[in-house]
Amino acid sequence: MDSTRDERREAVRRVCDWFLEHRRDLPWRRTTPWGVMVSEFMLQQTPVQRVLGPWQEWMTRWPEPDDLAAEPPGAAVAAWGRLGYPRRAQRLHRAATVISEQHGGRVPATQEELRALPGVGQYTAAAIFSFAFGGRAVVLDTNIRRVLHRLDKGEQYPPVSATAREWREAEDWLPEDPAQAALWAAASMELGALVCTARNPRCDDCPVRDLCTWRALGHPEHDGPPRRGQAWHGTDRQCRGVLLDLVRQNPDGVTVELALDAWADRGQAERSLAGLLADELVRRDGELLTL
Ligand code: SF4
Repeated sequence: MDSTRDERREAVRRVCDWFLEHRRDLPWRRTTPWGVMVSEFMLQQTPVQRVLGPWQEWMTRWPEPDDLAAEPPGAAVAAWGRLGYPRRAQRLHRAATVISEQHGGRVPATQEELRALPGVGQYTAAAIFSFAFGGRAVVLDTNIRRVLHRLDKGEQYPPVSATAREWREAEDWLPEDPAQAALWAAASMELGALVCTARNPRCDDCPVRDLCTWRALGHPEHDGPPRRGQAWHGTDRQCRGVLLDLVRQNPDGVTVELALDAWADRGQAERSLAGLLADELVRRDGELLTL
């Protein structure tokens, strides 16, 4: 069941109003573009609560990209501490170096330039563009995907990976005005984090409960492929599953670029793809991947 344009508009308006009243006071919501960028790198595979402390320390030590670029990469890795997946620290250091050398020390303000930075894929570029610069971009993280699937499709959980169609449909929800679009991105993400949670959604507190298809259907249980627990989350195995699933869902093939974009951590996606190719689970013909 897909919602109408008016229903989407009404839902967007209500979720944005709810956000303005209930949002968490997270430090990267009142910081510089560099602060937003650091937070996005840290949040790629680590929950908010574990990122708060390291983010503060990082920003105190390296308040601008130039400050980080002036240090050896090992300093970044050491400061990454227990956030996990320390390659993100190396990539953030490389990105800071590129920003320092090629962008005058300022985080670039277009998605295209952001995408060209080490460690910045489609999601991260869109998130920085939206949250740091108030730009209009489809930001599609796990929380937003879950909210849209419940609200619009009446399904408890989205598929493991986002298809090109899902990206297009998410665009239908995006307000035309860039500031409103940026607000919607932050608001829908927050709704997924605080109310429309994976396990125990608080539908009675939800600003769009009367517009929600999944609720109207009586909360039918997920009947897709089994979902895995936390121990699986963020592993190479999950990444391989996401890539494989994407190729599976596109019988005519997907480009390498699109497949790598399906996973926030670029290095992990490349490694997993190499594994899939070596295991001959996926074939590569030029830039096209097929089963
Ligand atoms: S009504 Fe419940 S399931 Fe629907 S969007 Fe709100 S919290 Fe999520």
